Amino acid sequence: MSTDPKALYQEVILDHNRKPRNYGELDHPSHHAEGVNPLCGDHIHLALDIKNDTVERIAFHGESCAICKASASMMTAAVKGKRTEEAETLAHEFVDMATGRAAAQDSPHIGRLAVFSGISALPMRVKCAILPWHTLQAAFRSEACTSTEADADPMHTPMGDA
Ligand code: ZN
Repeated sequence: MSTDPKALYQEVILDHNRKPRNYGELDHPSHHAEGVNPLCGDHIHLALDIKNDTVERIAFHGESCAICKASASMMTAAVKGKRTEEAETLAHEFVDMATGRAAAQDSPHIGRLAVFSGISALPMRVKCAILPWHTLQAAFRSEACTSTEADADPMHTPMGDA
C-alpha cells in the first residue's frame, strides 16, 4: 500500500471499477434521475428508495469512464443510509472540492472521498467525477415513477347508459 495520494487515487479508481458498489437497478424506486456528460460520453442512471427522508436503497448503472464509475460507486456507498439533507451537504462538499472551490481538509464530511481532491487539477475529468453527485441532486428533486395513469385512465370516464 502506498501513502502517495496519486497512487492511492489510482488504487481506489481501479478497485471501484473492478467491484462497483450498488451497481444495478432497483425495483420500484421512489426517486430516479439520469445523468449525461457529453464531454466524455458518461451516461448513468441512478435510482433511490427514500423512506422517512433516509436513503434506504440506491443503485446506479450505465456507460461511463473509470473516473465516473468510481465516483458513482463511492457516492452510492457514501449516501446509503444517510438522511437526504446529509447527502445534500456531502454533494455540495464533493462538488466544491472537485472543482477546486474548497480543500478536502475544509470539507468536514468528505472522508474517503478526499481521494478525488486532485481531480480539480484535471479540468477535463472534473465533470466525470461530479456527474454522479449532480445526478443524485437531480434525483432528490424528482418525484419520479409516480404513475399518472390512474388520473388519465379513459376507462374511468362514465360509459353512459348504452
Ligand atoms: Zn468520464
